[in-house]
Amino acid sequence: MIKINENYLKLQASYLFAEIKNRTTAFQQAHPDRDIIKLGIGDVTRPLPAACIEAFHRAVDEMAADATFRGYGPEQGYAFLREKIAAQDYQARGADIAADEIFISDGAKCDNGNIQEIFSTDITIAIPDPVYPVYVDTNVMAGRTGRFDQGRYEKIVYLDGTRENGFIPDLPPEKVDLIYLCFPNNPTGATISKKKLKQWVDFARQNKSLILFDAAYESFIRDDALPRSIYEIEGAREVAVEFRSFSKTAGFTGTRCAFTVVPKACTAYSADGEKQSLHALWYRRQSTKFNGVSYPVQRAAEAAYSPQGKTQTNEFIDYYLKNAALIRREMSALGFDCIGGENSPYIWVDGRTDSWKFFDRLLENTGVVCTPGAGFGRCGEGYIRISAFNDFENVQAAMTRIRETLGS
Ligand SMILES: *Cc1c(COP(=O)(O)O)cnc(C)c1O
Repeated sequence: MIKINENYLKLQASYLFAEIKNRTTAFQQAHPDRDIIKLGIGDVTRPLPAACIEAFHRAVDEMAADATFRGYGPEQGYAFLREKIAAQDYQARGADIAADEIFISDGAKCDNGNIQEIFSTDITIAIPDPVYPVYVDTNVMAGRTGRFDQGRYEKIVYLDGTRENGFIPDLPPEKVDLIYLCFPNNPTGATISKKKLKQWVDFARQNKSLILFDAAYESFIRDDALPRSIYEIEGAREVAVEFRSFSKTAGFTGTRCAFTVVPKACTAYSADGEKQSLHALWYRRQSTKFNGVSYPVQRAAEAAYSPQGKTQTNEFIDYYLKNAALIRREMSALGFDCIGGENSPYIWVDGRTDSWKFFDRLLENTGVVCTPGAGFGRCGEGYIRISAFNDFENVQAAMTRIRETLGS
C-alpha cells in the first residue's frame, strides 16, 4: 500500500481565490449588463519590455545554428546574467554580493518553497500574518507545523501585522530559527526602513537564526532611503538569503526567471553544532534537482540590465506606480486609511468592516473586484488589497465608480 505524505492533509483548501471567483461569477450572472473591473490581480498586465523581447528573439536564433547552439547551461545560471545582477543590483548599491553567490532559477516561488528542504524539520519558523501563502504551505508540507486550528497552524510563530505596527511585525519575544520577511510586502504594500531591518538582522545574529528575505517587489521602491536588498544592512551576509524575480520587475510572470542570493558567509548548523555553508548545501540541492533556466530566457533577463532595458523596465514600473498612486489618493480621499501604494503595487485599505462584507459591497455597488485581506491570514481581517496591476484606464474607471458610490 503506497502511503502519502500525511502533511498534505493538513493543508487548507485555497479558499481565497476560488471564493472570489465564485462571488464574481454569481454577480456577473445576476447582472449580465454590468461591467466588472478586476483589481484583485497579483499578475502583471503589460507585455515584456522591447529590449527583453529583442534579446529573447536573438537567443532563439542562436539555438537554431550549429555554431551558436547551446545545450545544458551552467547549474547556477549563465555568468553573463549573474555578473550583471551582482554589479548592478548589489555592488552598485554598496551590497557586497559576488556573481558566484547568485543562483538563477525559474521562479522565486519555487525557490522560496524549495529552500526549506535544506533545513531540519524540527526548527522553529516565524511567519508574518498577513502573508504570501507559499511560506506557510511549504512548511506544512514539510511537516514543520501541527494541525490547523482556529485559523492558524500549531507550531508556527506568527508575526502579527497590525494597525499599530503599520504591518511591520515586531521582533518575536522568543528565539526562532527561520524567519520569513517580504518587503515591499505582498499583500500589504508595507515597506521597511533600514533601521527596522537592522533590528531583524541583529536579532538573527544574536539567535543564530536565518532570514529568508523576499524582495520580489524591490523594483517598485522609488524612495532611495529604503533598502532594496537586505544586504544593504550591515551584518546581513551571515544571516540572510534573498529572493528576487524578474516577474514583477520586467513582466516575466509567464516567461519565468528569478534568482536567489546565498552569500558564502551564510551558515547554519549541523546537529553537533558545527557550522555548515548554506551556499554549498543550496548548490548541491540545485545541481541535483534542477537543470537551469533556458538560455533564451536568461538572455531576455540580461537585457533588462542594458541601458534601454533599464529605461523600459523603469517605465513599466512607473506605469503601475501611477495606478497605485491614483488608487491610494482616491481611497484616502474617501477617508480610508491606506498602507502601500507608494514603493509598491499593492494598496492595503482599512475597510473598518469585515473583509468579505467590504468585498461584496464594492462588487455590488461598483462592479470592482478586490482581494479580501482575511484571505491572507487572521490579521488581514478588516482590510482589502487593491492591486495596481491593470490598465490605467481601468483603474481610473474603477476609482470613479468607487468615488461616486462610496463617497456619497
Ligand atoms: C509574485 C511574487 C513572487 C514571484 O514569484 P515568481 O515565482 O518568481 O513568479 C515572489 N514572492 C512574492 C511575495 C510574490 O508576490
